[in-house]
Amino acid sequence: MSLRVKVILPYLLLTLAVAIIGTYVVTRLVASSLTERLTNQLLEAGRVVSDGMARQEIGHLEAARVVAYTSGLGDALAAGDVAAVTTLAEPVAAGLDIESLTLVNLQGQEMLNLLQQADGSYVRADQPTSMAALWVVQNLIEQNDVNALPARSLGQHPLNGRYYYFTAIPVEAGGRMAGVVVLGTSLDTLLPYLKSTALADVVFFVEDGRSIATTLGGADPGDDLLAQLAISPESYDAILRTNDLVTGENTKVFSRWYSLARGPLKVGSDRLGVFAVALPLNFVLQAGADSRNMYVLIFSLAMIGVVLIGYFIAQIIIGPLSRLVRASQAIAGGDLSQRTGIRNRDEIGVLAVTFDEMTENLEARTHELQKAYHSLAQMDRTKSTFITLAAHELRTPLTLISGYTQMLKESSEKDEELLPLAVGVLDGTKRMSEVVNSMLDVSRIDNQTLEIVPEQFGVAMLLERVHSNFAQALKSRNLSLLTEELYDLPPIQADPEQFYKVFYHLVMNAIKYTPDGGTITVSGRVVIEPDDRREVEIVVRDTGIGIDAEHQELIFEKFYQLGEVQFHTSSKTKFKGGGPGLGLSIARGIVLAHGGRIWVESAGHDEQNYPGSSFYIRLPLKEESA
Ligand code: ADP
Repeated sequence: MSLRVKVILPYLLLTLAVAIIGTYVVTRLVASSLTERLTNQLLEAGRVVSDGMARQEIGHLEAARVVAYTSGLGDALAAGDVAAVTTLAEPVAAGLDIESLTLVNLQGQEMLNLLQQADGSYVRADQPTSMAALWVVQNLIEQNDVNALPARSLGQHPLNGRYYYFTAIPVEAGGRMAGVVVLGTSLDTLLPYLKSTALADVVFFVEDGRSIATTLGGADPGDDLLAQLAISPESYDAILRTNDLVTGENTKVFSRWYSLARGPLKVGSDRLGVFAVALPLNFVLQAGADSRNMYVLIFSLAMIGVVLIGYFIAQIIIGPLSRLVRASQAIAGGDLSQRTGIRNRDEIGVLAVTFDEMTENLEARTHELQKAYHSLAQMDRTKSTFITLAAHELRTPLTLISGYTQMLKESSEKDEELLPLAVGVLDGTKRMSEVVNSMLDVSRIDNQTLEIVPEQFGVAMLLERVHSNFAQALKSRNLSLLTEELYDLPPIQADPEQFYKVFYHLVMNAIKYTPDGGTITVSGRVVIEPDDRREVEIVVRDTGIGIDAEHQELIFEKFYQLGEVQFHTSSKTKFKGGGPGLGLSIARGIVLAHGGRIWVESAGHDEQNYPGSSFYIRLPLKEESA
């Protein structure tokens, strides 16, 4: 993950969290305030409905009194004179615009039953109906009290089967109760009136929670809707007994959601039933959705703003860092001339300036090292030239000396005094020409003029030659030279003379650095590399003084010696007798020229415990030699 993302991501997550929580909280607040408003509206509508009922009752009472006090009506009722009752009451009903008027005498006989039609005209029941059986009528007749309080109820009108709100008061004749006047207003008229004043839909319920009328669903709600709106008898009874409006219930009418509040339908001391007011919920839902959308939009914009700010902040912080990274990558790639060029005054600026200074120093140092390297290379070339010249210069007189000494030796065969001297000079000359030859080998390796004439041969044969060369020395130093599995090795493709030199120097070193009585082992095997290449590995292992890790690479450099100079000896095989320091450099030059590798492994230098050294040679095995 890039640093830029790491900086911006927490911002983003934080803003997202704030946005989600914010939207949620604000929407909830809006929703709850809207719900509260709705509840208040419902309660208000409920109050208005109660007031409306009270007004309706006053209207009923006023009209009923006008009827009751019509002169002669009480007497006509008491006398059971239907014609007189009709003549007296009908015009009053028409004048007061009464929807339903019923007059019953004290015996419970229906004297007049008028019902207003939709067009305002009245129909009169020819026969007595069940109107006299209404609770309001029976209640007053039973009381038989001219001062009895008015009675009200909701009930079905026997003439049209519709629900009415009835109010009944006693009619007096001669100071005594003569009958009952019952006034009714159809719920089909009453409910739309209540709706228009309360600004909410209204539902009326009677016993058992049956709903009998509602403004929901238009002029004719239908029985299905009424059945749907019905409540359980238990809740009907519970609501009837309370004095308050019960809110918090939602119902769906014709795919529209309404919030309902129910309360007892009280008129005076009578509880006629239960009513409900209903307000549509869609404006709450809509307002909630609108506010949610608005806040989602606001928070989204805020989030984009925060992300942009975060991006710019990240840019300010990360811009210099990116330049620093680019500069460091270029420097790591070797371009030391690169600088960050950042001059900010903050911590990154300090880091960049320090980094630039470091690079400056590094460049200067590298430059110095390059100069030193060039002069060293020059010195090395001079040394190589000197070796070449010295070797060539020494070779000619040496050849002469050895030739003359040979002649001197031959001519002094019988001279006992001269012969050992001549032999001594001849041995010295031989050793000297070996050193000169080594110098020539080194110079050829340095100048890459080593001549290689490859042919196939077995390593075992070569080792036999080396063995016989050092047989005398091995014997005098009581050393064993063992070979292991060399005869099983496939023949190698190399220059046998050059490789003879390699093993000559390795075995000679092993003899020199192994104490008397030690063992030198030369073993070989075929190794299969991970890339399936086959190589021959030859190891020259001794039980000598060993080599410290820090020198294991350097001993392959020409003239590099570990032994002290005072132990230097012209003997090739004396224990710890240091030579000119050319053997390993020649061995490495020859192995490398054959495409191989040479290295040493040793547990370290220890002249008490003799950890020994193992010199490894690996040569690629050519297919034709396999
Ligand atoms: P030298 O003529 O001194 O033997 P070389 O190049 O052959 O020169 O060896 C370099 C140095 O490596 C030696 O001086 C010696 O200290 C160390 N060395 C070489 N071979 C061995 C060995 N088998 N055991 C311990 N030290 C060795």
